[in-house]
Amino acid sequence: MKLFSLCLAVALAATVEGAAGQEATRRLDLAEVRVTESRLARAFGRLIDGSPSAARVLGDLAASGLPLAIGRPADLAALPDAEGGPAPLERTALLAGSEPGRRESPARVVFRLAYDGTVERAWIAVDVDAMERLERRGRSDEARERLDDDLLATLAHEFVAHVGSVALTRSMADFCDDPPVGHHTHEAFACSLRVENRVRSELNRALGLTGPRRLPRRDNYSFDVMNFSRGWAERPEAR
Ligand SMILES: [Zn+2]
Repeated sequence: MKLFSLCLAVALAATVEGAAGQEATRRLDLAEVRVTESRLARAFGRLIDGSPSAARVLGDLAASGLPLAIGRPADLAALPDAEGGPAPLERTALLAGSEPGRRESPARVVFRLAYDGTVERAWIAVDVDAMERLERRGRSDEARERLDDDLLATLAHEFVAHVGSVALTRSMADFCDDPPVGHHTHEAFACSLRVENRVRSELNRALGLTGPRRLPRRDNYSFDVMNFSRGWAERPEAR
């Protein structure tokens, strides 16, 4: 398996008061982020380029040393220990919910927690292949762009809202959660949707996403705003 962007350099500005009180130095830290799939690597690059919130999370990962891997469920499940591979229970969690015909989220975050609730490692599993099948099911024109934008929005949610909330403190007490499943709550009550919408508007502005490519606001936990949801609606087994 090819690994993309093995480690991402993040420049963190650290002002150090020197003897003269005016010395400023820049420290270079590394965020350990592995992306195991090319379409996800492209989406992650666009996310960091377009969203100041996402860039901040990358800086937080560098500062705290929390390692993260992003990839398709099967790729992450197969990662060797030396490259941040999951333990058996974590592997089961990464592979859960990817049965065909399910209308569950095609993405999930899995954390390794220490006994005291400290986050030791994080994985973001995205079922890119299932999303691509859905994009191509209805109309295949511009399927690649629609998939790119869905992966971008997916990472806005999983990387910035979920991983981002614990990136610096590594404490589950800070976790930014989803609204309860099936609960169409107003976004004011849902941390993850609030953050996702902020990132969506950052991306629209910075990447010039307008017209049909503009990422719409999401005000509930259903996937109506995702391109792949149109493919879902056309699946007979989903009815
Ligand atoms: Zn979520």
